[in-house]
Amino acid sequence: MKKIVTSCLLIFCIALSALMQSCGSVAITGRKQVLLFDSGQIASLSNDAYSEVMSTATLSKNTNMTKMVQDVGFRLSQAVISYMTQNGRGQQMAAYNWGFVCIDSKEVNAFCLPNGKVVAYEGIMPFASTADRLAVVIGHEMGHVIANHGNERMSQETIVKMVGAAGDAVLSGKSEQTRAIFNTAFGLGTSLGVLMPYSRTHEYEADRLGLIFMAMAGFDINQAPVFWEQMSQNSGPKPPEFLSTHPSDANRMARLRATIPEASQYAPRR
Ligand SMILES: [Zn+2]
Repeated sequence: MKKIVTSCLLIFCIALSALMQSCGSVAITGRKQVLLFDSGQIASLSNDAYSEVMSTATLSKNTNMTKMVQDVGFRLSQAVISYMTQNGRGQQMAAYNWGFVCIDSKEVNAFCLPNGKVVAYEGIMPFASTADRLAVVIGHEMGHVIANHGNERMSQETIVKMVGAAGDAVLSGKSEQTRAIFNTAFGLGTSLGVLMPYSRTHEYEADRLGLIFMAMAGFDINQAPVFWEQMSQNSGPKPPEFLSTHPSDANRMARLRATIPEASQYAPRR
């Protein structure tokens, strides 16, 4: 009995000290979050996942689509890098190795891995038919990455596992447990490239950051609510993958519209 109490106490202390060391805050929004994994660990797992996705994918042969994904992604990343560097978050930006590819697939999907690799499927391009609308998609996905939502989700899962005493093993490096948590957090274990739905908090935050990144890079932020609305109206009986992982509702549209004045303050002065 005494042994059980001692080990429970030990696990509690490990959990508590991990939490105390790893409180962070999201850039721009300032929301406090617990991040238990270091960025190198996440980047390494992301590199593996990206190689795996790309090993079975075919790059788009459509040069217009490819160029648009690269140009829009590049503009957004440059704006974000310059803002974050000027605001004391240069170290965080060093963890990303930005890259933008368009994949030959009818799937209506796009995602950004935590190492900064953005993948857009040809199937989403009819919805993101202009540079501004594509910036909505890529800006939103970059928002999840800059806000460390993946690390946060992995950390939340680890805290649950810590209660079951597996946490210290999980945190000890690129172990099997860490890989399993990464795969769960990113849905990569079951269907490559299809991310698990984010929580509503994460979605709203990615919307807000995406809109601000769009403004920083000089895109038309008024296209964001238009894009989401059109996407939900044209989705048909089975919602496209991108939409089903990004619930579109009236509250979300209202919040997006309400964020436009804030985001517009980040636009470059003309
Ligand atoms: Zn999202």
